[in-house]
Amino acid sequence: MVEQQLLARGIRDERVLKAMGRVPRELFVPEESRERAYDDAALPIGSGQTISQPAMVALICELLDFQGDERVLDVGTGSGYQAAVLAELAAEVHTIERRAELAEQARENLAAAGYADRVRVHVGDGTLGDPEHAPFGAIAVAAAAPEPPRSLYDQLEPGGRLVLPVGSRYDQLLELFVRTPEGPAVIRSVACRFVPLVGQEGFDAD
Ligand code: SAH
Repeated sequence: MVEQQLLARGIRDERVLKAMGRVPRELFVPEESRERAYDDAALPIGSGQTISQPAMVALICELLDFQGDERVLDVGTGSGYQAAVLAELAAEVHTIERRAELAEQARENLAAAGYADRVRVHVGDGTLGDPEHAPFGAIAVAAAAPEPPRSLYDQLEPGGRLVLPVGSRYDQLLELFVRTPEGPAVIRSVACRFVPLVGQEGFDAD
């Protein structure tokens, strides 16, 4: 996976490549798709949701440019895979999922992979962030929003980084927002397709 998918797509950050090599992705996909766990693709995890493609997880982590001491918020826990990779790169990880059944499954996956004490899973509307644990040095969002939720930007530390797919329900651009004294600095990255971020500062439920 590291050579064929990540290096081939231009991921160069050694910390990210190492982190991706350490997390057992097969423990985050449903049993019936275990043999496809390392495919270059997103996979269904139930409730109409997906575990993100490995290259997207790596790119999000690379854009966040971790130093290792950050407190991180991961919005859209899904399987818990991205949260586990973030735990390899940062000091403290909070992850928030709107669907209670996925949050429960993610807790089990994270425990099986040895991350139970390094990731805290919360249930709620992640478009509003996690004010209780803010501010964050980095926020990763694994679901697409029409615009970056203001609450998430406001929960960044000065210099903090927010990465999320921005666009329509069906196609988006991955964007990086850095909190600066002059307001958000935006860097646009690749075209992508994520499931919608559904909530108060995201899309309406369908
Ligand atoms: N990071 C995940 C991929 C999850 S897909 C992984 O590695 O497996 C996106 C997830 O975002 C879905 O589980 C979906 O239920 C969740 N989601 C959508 N809107 C949300 C919101 N407002 N708050 C929290 N989670 C949300």
